[in-house]
Order: sequence, then C-alpha cells, then structure tokens
Amino acid sequence: MNNIDEKLRPILAEVARRNAGEPEFHQAVHEVMESLGRVVAKHPDYLEQALIERICEPERQIIFRIPWVDDQGNVQINRGFRVQFNSSLGPYKGGMRFHPSVNLGIIKFLGFEQTFKNALSGLPIGGGKGGTDFDPKNKSDGEIMRFCQSLMIELHRHLGEQTDVPAGDIGVGGREIGYMFGQYKRLTNRYESGVFTGKDIAYGGSRARTEATGFGNTYFTKAMLETRQTDFDGKRVVVSGAGNVAIHTIEKVQSFGGTVIACSDSSGYIIDEAGIDLALLQEVKSVRRERISEYARLRGNGVRFVPVGKGSVWDLPCDVAMPSATQNELTGKDAKTLVKNGVLAVGEGANMPCTPEAIRILREAGILFGPGKAANAGGVATSALEMQQNASRDRWSFEQTEQRLAQIMKSIHDRCAETADEYGAPGDYVLGANIAGFVRVAKAMRMLGVI
Ligand code: GLU
Repeated sequence: MNNIDEKLRPILAEVARRNAGEPEFHQAVHEVMESLGRVVAKHPDYLEQALIERICEPERQIIFRIPWVDDQGNVQINRGFRVQFNSSLGPYKGGMRFHPSVNLGIIKFLGFEQTFKNALSGLPIGGGKGGTDFDPKNKSDGEIMRFCQSLMIELHRHLGEQTDVPAGDIGVGGREIGYMFGQYKRLTNRYESGVFTGKDIAYGGSRARTEATGFGNTYFTKAMLETRQTDFDGKRVVVSGAGNVAIHTIEKVQSFGGTVIACSDSSGYIIDEAGIDLALLQEVKSVRRERISEYARLRGNGVRFVPVGKGSVWDLPCDVAMPSATQNELTGKDAKTLVKNGVLAVGEGANMPCTPEAIRILREAGILFGPGKAANAGGVATSALEMQQNASRDRWSFEQTEQRLAQIMKSIHDRCAETADEYGAPGDYVLGANIAGFVRVAKAMRMLGVI
C-alpha cells in the first residue's frame, strides 16, 4: 500500500476484502489506484459519489454451467463467465477467453482493464469480458462447435448489439466466433451482425481486425521510439507468444525493418537469428495448430528450440521486447535481464503480461514502457470499427481500416503522453493511460447519476 494515496487505501482494502482469492483482479486494481493519487490530489471531487468504488465493482457478473458431449459420448462440464463491467461509454465490449486457467478473478481483471482500454480508444464502447475453463487444445472441430453452441444457449440472453458485444481472446479465433455467432443467430432469429466482432470477412467481419492487435502494438511502440528519435529499422526484437497477436506483431515489425529473432508458445521458445519466417510460423501455429518446436525442425538453418523451464525468451539480448502471450509472463528477473541487455522499449501486446515488479524495474531504468491497456487497444478499437461497418451495412477496404487503426494508435499514444505531462510525470505511459482512461469513464459515470 506504500505507493497508494491515503484517501484511496480504504477503497483498495475494501476491493481486496470483498473479492477474496482473486490475485489478478487485485493486481489490476492496485495498478490503477497507484496512478489515481495524482488525480484525486488535483480533483478531489472524483472521490465523491463513491465513483471510484463503483468503477471497481462490475455492473453484472454471470456464471453458468456449460454441459457438452465429447467425441466418445462422455458428458463434459465446463464453467462459463461473462463480467459486464462498465457500460457508461457504450455497450459492454470485450473478448471471450477459452483457457483452463480461466476463473472469475481472471475475467474480472480482464474486464476491469478492458473498461479503461476501451475508454482510451476514444470510441463508444463500455468494458466487459468473458470466458470459460474449457481447454480447446486437442479438441476436434465437432467438439469445439458443440461446446460453442452449448455456451451460447446460456449466454445469448445476455448479449445484443446495444447490450454486450463479445469477440475473441486467448483460445478464441475466427472459428469459435463463427460457431457462437451462428448459434446466436439461430436462437434469436435475428441477423444481428454487430453482436460479435472478430467475425470472418465472409459474413460481416472487418478487414484488418485479425491483424489489429499486433499491428496496433507495433504502431504504439513505434510512436514511443520516435520520442527518442529512433524507430524499428535495424532493431532486434523479441516477441513472446505465437498466436494472433504475436504473429501480426512480427509481420508489422518486419515491415518497419526490424528483425524478430524469437517467439514462443506454452511449450518453449525458438531463436531464429536470421529473422522469423512468418509464412512458416503461420503454417505451423495457425493452420496445423502444432507445437513451436515444429517450426525449428522444418526451418533447420541453425534455429534452436528451447523447451519451457530451460530458460526464458527474455534472456535473449534485444532492443525491443513485445510480450504477446499472457498475464504475468514477464517477471522482475526478466525485466532485470532486459535492462542489463540494453532494451530500449517494451510494448505489451497481451493483457498485463508484465508483473508489477517488472514494470517497476523497467520504469525506474527509464525504459519506454507501453502498458497493454494502451498499447494493445488496437484490437478492440478495430472491433469498434467493425461495429460501425455493421451498423451502416458497409465494408471498408483493408487500407482504409488500417489507416484508421494507425490514427487511433497515434492518438492513444499522444493522449497518454499528454496526460503524463499534465500530471507531472513526463514519459510515464502507465500513469498517462490509467489517468486518461479513468477520467473518461468517471466523467460519463458522474453525468449518468448514481446507477
Ligand atoms: N480480447 C481483445 C482485448 O483484450 C479484444 C476484445 C474485443 O475486440 O472486443 O482487447
């Protein structure tokens, strides 16, 4: 509690008490509270009407049973969640995560982060998140479809293009969105395109949505580098993960002249000094859904695979680090190694991938640090563009959509930087993102009365 303003300590203590056993949620709230001290010092009126307490309490939390039948005829049970966190700026908006680690605390942390991220995007979207502890690994296509359909039988009643609009997250891509949207359409008898984003372009998706999170983080990180008169050209870059975010980060960094020398999955990481072969990586991970060691085997040419437990991808010397796998994947120890190896910038492609200790070490060392709620906002921002296209029954070109994304990322970067300046912490993107996101949500909440 040391770095928490005295007036905010009781609020944080109450969040910890009434959300027992949810460490990720506490971590996310703690980080925002650290930044709000400067806000309440300048504008004590934000302490009125229990505004901050209300922001920390989800508007609605839904937990439900998902029964389904596997290929052997056995009945399986999973648990589904949807946390509708805040709708002061628009319908609840945020992805669905399918991963065995999912529990209520994880979905709440993600929904909390999403609220500020969506506010920062400047677009009219509230914050929400959902998911399930279903493990999509090694499931047949039929099992995935039946699972998505069962999930939607319960969830559909809580959704709507003006109410709550899910998308993908870890374990949920175009295939799963298709099955969920299809079942929603069938149950409601409505072709309500804008109720899901991340749809395939074959039926109402937006061009550049798949690329948007990775591209967006690259644009954001480039904007940070430009404040130090440099860019990606000739830089050594390490990206963690090998999913949608990582793959499109690698693509964009390469197009800006950077060399991505490593990426990872849950089984380990690969080092490819010549620069990752993107087509091969996509073939192995997205098409064949295989382990990353398969990339090393097929690529040959001195590429090494390091299994998990035998070292960290952050041990590799690099100029830019872009953690794009999952929460708390980059620890204090990793941050120390990165600093020692002379890293210039860290852009968070995943949600909360750096531990609080890692963030402290990077900030103290003066490393450019782009927090996920700003740096990875390009995904959800492009989801909002998908909603716009659906609402106007229009389709934009890839170029037009990417151009909007690039503008949005630049304006998020600038808003964070200006807010950090205004609150006396130039260059502190964590503070800038938390304060700018909070102020936008809090202002709207105040105007809507005590609800
Ligand atoms: N899951 C993504 C995120 O963390 C995207 C959410 C969306 O597009 O609604 O922001």
